Amino acid sequence: VRTPAHDGNGHAACRTCRQLGDALIELIAEHGYSAITAARVCARAGMSPDALTGHAGDLDGLLVTAFQQGVDDLYGRAEDAFASPGPWDRRFRRAVEAIVLLLADRPGLGRLCFVDAVERGGPEIWRRRDRAFRRFVELVAKSDEDDGRPRLRFELLVGALHTTLRERVLQPGAWRDLPALCDELAALAPVFEPVAA
Ligand SMILES: [Zn+2]
Repeated sequence: VRTPAHDGNGHAACRTCRQLGDALIELIAEHGYSAITAARVCARAGMSPDALTGHAGDLDGLLVTAFQQGVDDLYGRAEDAFASPGPWDRRFRRAVEAIVLLLADRPGLGRLCFVDAVERGGPEIWRRRDRAFRRFVELVAKSDEDDGRPRLRFELLVGALHTTLRERVLQPGAWRDLPALCDELAALAPVFEPVAA
């Protein structure tokens, strides 16, 4: 999103964009995206309307920025958890827990990333979503199996997780039950683990 305050990807490290995105996520949790206006976001963030115009262009631009921030936050949590020592299935479980706990902690985040951004956003959001999907697949794929074979089962795993989380986020209040789902979600891992030869 090119705006007067940014050219390209400067949003990621911008404090104003972060505050505007956080305000958007809060309002999504409270009222739903359709009730949100640029003026409301600015008021919540304690900023003048010029801030949103200057940093994100308009509400659609902020949606892209906030989506990317949200995806980066979720990926960052998963990456940290996955980097911990231990067998693959345990690290996978920790990564799932990290994602689920963040989503449960910030109900508007899941709604933004899994529903509103994808439904309201255009090709730019869809490209970023596809890129995020591939990042998550690369994260969970076993590096010691990098022999050029298609990583089909890791794609299935990330796809299944994404679909399940989106389904929960779509149901009002269901995000509260997300932490209780960790065991079941982690139980997905062995299903996708290769059978020992
Ligand atoms: Zn900014």
